[in-house]
Order: sequence, then C-alpha cells, then structure tokens
Amino acid sequence: MAEPIVKFQDVHKSFGDVKVLKGIDLDIMPAEKVAVIGPSGSGKTTIIRMLMTLEEPTSGNIIVDGTNLWKMEKNGKLVEANEKHLREVRGDIGMVFQHFNLFPHMTILENCMTAPIHVKKEDKKSARENSIEMLEKVGLGDKLDNYPSQLSGGQKQRVAMARALVMRPKIMLFDEVTSALDPELVGEVLEVIRDIAKDGEMAMVLVTHEMDFALDVADKVLFLDEGVIAEQGSASEVIEHSANERLKSFLHRFR
Ligand code: ADP
Repeated sequence: MAEPIVKFQDVHKSFGDVKVLKGIDLDIMPAEKVAVIGPSGSGKTTIIRMLMTLEEPTSGNIIVDGTNLWKMEKNGKLVEANEKHLREVRGDIGMVFQHFNLFPHMTILENCMTAPIHVKKEDKKSARENSIEMLEKVGLGDKLDNYPSQLSGGQKQRVAMARALVMRPKIMLFDEVTSALDPELVGEVLEVIRDIAKDGEMAMVLVTHEMDFALDVADKVLFLDEGVIAEQGSASEVIEHSANERLKSFLHRFR
C-alpha cells in the first residue's frame, strides 16, 4: 500500500482569536485528485496556503512526501524547520492562483523558463524545450513570444498552469482558478485541468465552485464547513447523495 503524499494530522489554525481550522485530518494519496468545496470563509484557502508553506499551523502536523513541513530533526531533536528545509519541500508543490500572478515584463516562454533555470538550476536549453512542450500542451504553442497583457484571462491562466507544471511537481494546487474569469473563458481552463488530471501521476487539490467539474475530475471531495471537514467521500457521494443538511443547502446555490 502506497503512503499518502500529503497528511494533515489534527491541524488547527487561528488568526488571533479567530479559529479558522479546527482539527483537520486528511490523507491524500499520490495521483489522487481531491476537490475542496465549502462556503466562503470555511478555510479552503488556508488549507491550500498551508500546503504551500505560506501559513504555519497553530498546532498539528502537515507531512508532505514523508517530510514534516514545519518540524525537522536536528541532533536527534525536533526543532522548527528552517528556510532551507521549507524550500526543499516547496520544490515538490505547484500552485495556480485565482489571479494569475504572471511576470508582466516577461514573455510567456520566459515566464515558464525562469523557475526551472533559477530554482532548479536547469540549463537554459532544456528549460526552453520543456517550457515550449508544456505551453504546447496547454494550447499556447503559437504565443511563446507574447506578453501576458496580450492574452485573454483564460490564456493567462493556461500559462500559469504551464509555468507550474514545468517544475514537475508531485502535487498541484488550484485555488479557485476560474473564479476571476469571464464565464465564456471558464470552459477552456477546466478543459486543460481535465487533461492534466488524465496524465495521472500528480496529486491534485482543487478548490472549486464548479460542481460538474468536481464530479468529473475528483476522486474525493471534501466539504469544509466552519473549519472542519464536515463530509468527505467520492464525488458522487458528497455532491449527489449526501444527507448533510448544510451541505445540501450549500449545493443548492449551484443548481
Ligand atoms: P475560504 O477560502 O474558504 O473562503 P479562507 O481560508 O480564505 O476561507 O478564510 C477562512 C477564515 O480565515 C476567514 O474568516 C478569513 O477572514 C480568515 N483569515 C484568513 N487569512 C487570515 C489572516 N491572514 N488573518 C486573519 N484572518 C484570516
């Protein structure tokens, strides 16, 4: 039996007096596709930010590929992780945000090449070849020399995906990546995510309000409500057949 690639063990998070996560236990297997749904303020983005090492839990453990994100062993003792340790774990994790966060002064090819060259120390030629391959995969092979400002929102989001994928992460995080798009551009972005999901190897965590998409892509769906996982199961169990009243009333808004 394979080990989970991500493990949350009784993770709590407070901001001041506000308890945002109240004991999250979660296993994500390699290659598993997990959709996270739930009302605004339920803690979805906080979970994603924790996986990105942008927030430290108030208590509990987050273990990625066997490595505790925030604690490391030093001289036989567990101590707080240093920046080098965090950087190493981050290398396994790719993220796509709601707002694309592309570098405006770089072409889309340069946007994709920069992390492999500067973070992974890949040589320029192979970074270039891999980036072109990834941009072709997301349907932008004819836009390599364009700048982000010359692209539509959907195209920018596809660049953001190529840029994350070119780092060959073990886990990809998608935080409401279609929420900022005009409705007519949502489909093309979801289509690319479906394609990526089919490739198989990566674990994916998707915060989304697109229920049909979650039904289609997710192996597992989590319903987050007021900082706890109130329901989890297969996409069909959670989205189509749950008896949880709060979940049903949440879903009702999308039907
Ligand atoms: P969701 O993604 O489900 O909308 P979030 O994880 O963004 O929820 O936020 C959950 C709660 O945590 C919200 O009440 C939000 O105001 C609060 N929160 C998130 N980040 C911070 C922060 N840096 N400081 C204070 N409160 C925060």
